[in-house]
Amino acid sequence: MQDIMELIRRKDPEQREFHQAVKEVLISIEPVLEQNPVYREAKILERLVEPERLIVFRVPWVDDRGEIQVNRGFRVEMNSAIGPYKGGLRFHPSVNLGILKFLAFEQVFKNALTTLPMGGGKGGSDFDPKGKSENEVMRFCHSFMAELYRHIGANTDVPAGDIGVGAREIGYLFGMYKKLRNEFTGVLTGKSLNWGGSLVRPEATGYGSVYFCAEMLATRSKTLEGTTCLVSGSGNVAQYTAEKLIELDAKVVTLSDSSGYIFDESGIDREKLEFVKTLKNIRRGRIKEYAEKYPQAVYTPVDPALDYNPLWNHAADCAFPSATQNEINAKDARNLVNNKVQVVCEGANMPTTPEGIDIFIDSGLLYGPGKAANAGGVSVSGLEMTQNSMRLSWNRDEVDNRLKMIMANIHQTCLDAAARYGHAGNYMVGANIAGFVKVVDAMLDQGVV
Ligand code: NDP
Repeated sequence: MQDIMELIRRKDPEQREFHQAVKEVLISIEPVLEQNPVYREAKILERLVEPERLIVFRVPWVDDRGEIQVNRGFRVEMNSAIGPYKGGLRFHPSVNLGILKFLAFEQVFKNALTTLPMGGGKGGSDFDPKGKSENEVMRFCHSFMAELYRHIGANTDVPAGDIGVGAREIGYLFGMYKKLRNEFTGVLTGKSLNWGGSLVRPEATGYGSVYFCAEMLATRSKTLEGTTCLVSGSGNVAQYTAEKLIELDAKVVTLSDSSGYIFDESGIDREKLEFVKTLKNIRRGRIKEYAEKYPQAVYTPVDPALDYNPLWNHAADCAFPSATQNEINAKDARNLVNNKVQVVCEGANMPTTPEGIDIFIDSGLLYGPGKAANAGGVSVSGLEMTQNSMRLSWNRDEVDNRLKMIMANIHQTCLDAAARYGHAGNYMVGANIAGFVKVVDAMLDQGVV
């Protein structure tokens, strides 16, 4: 394990998030490696941490003032042992190779857990859609796809959305792909309904995270009804997490963006959530406007001098980090435990630092790691690919029922794998082991490629 960590640190010393993601998996799979020397002989770990292909490209575009802008585009094709590369595109100024490699690495195991035939990948750009006009976003997306199109395809690599990439961006990306390839295929998921999208895809990550949470609570004979929930973020995952929680009679009291968070003690109901959806998806405004519209809510701006996030310091039963990586540090984790939170269910990817995870696991609360809890999004992306291949569309109940079944299966798979290796109830170890075994066994079957 140490050799592998040294190897990746030496090769790419600045890729801290990637090192963090790899270390978490390596620690979890130690007992599997001990029992299966064949994995070491086949240099499986060395192969797993090296992306099959890295694509880095220039994205030039012209802004509304007629000035030329240049961003950097990426696609990390991490592992295709069990299917075409699959994973989202992130447009955010913080995007770099280390972040995308961590996301692609996580995606490999997550996709394996869904039981659908999807390999792992991730991509994006350091482009910031915030404050850009519609035309600027369109020109950027078209330029991005003018290079990416030659590397992807319905049977090769199927990107989707992530932070900063929603239905609008997928539309522009698809338009350019279709024009350049002169074909209409399911090369992107998260498409709009009237041209190849799947029902429940926009909702899938948030709904799936709540279904996973309900499964975890059921192991302690509890339900979400009447619980108080902290949700971070206010984008796609946060909105649909809140929507499903409200439907199940839980009370959601927080939402956030990168500028601050709102706390609404009376609960965010359906009407208030509709306001948030319009604010974020159409007007593209800031969450502080929630407190202007509903004055009983308190808005707290981000304070860079604080070494914790006050959003995680409210009394609650459940926490759903649904914004970004490393948004819960050790102090936040301690605050959640001290406030008697019973379950932490990760809608975001790797939102908890390793020290935070240790605190959750030691405390005995139910901890659902992102690669299991947020797998609903990619699962319904997989179902979108299936519907595109069949040239059929399933109705809402059919997709939602399949999503529920997949989340229940992932939950059980994690529990079974954890118990088999002496870590009963540890979803993180279970998710890592189950995902790892499925992928590396496929790699062994396919030989040294
Ligand atoms: P969106 O872009 O729709 O929303 C992201 C939200 O998180 C926004 O409220 C944003 O605030 C906030 N945010 C982003 N970066 C930061 C930051 N550095 N600090 C504080 N807040 C931040 O993205 P999604 O909802 O799609 O994604 C959220 C998380 O869920 C990510 O970790 C993503 O990888 C993960 N995920 C998403 C899936 C999907 O299907 N969309 C599937 C599985 C996981 P602001 O507007 O100010 O930037």
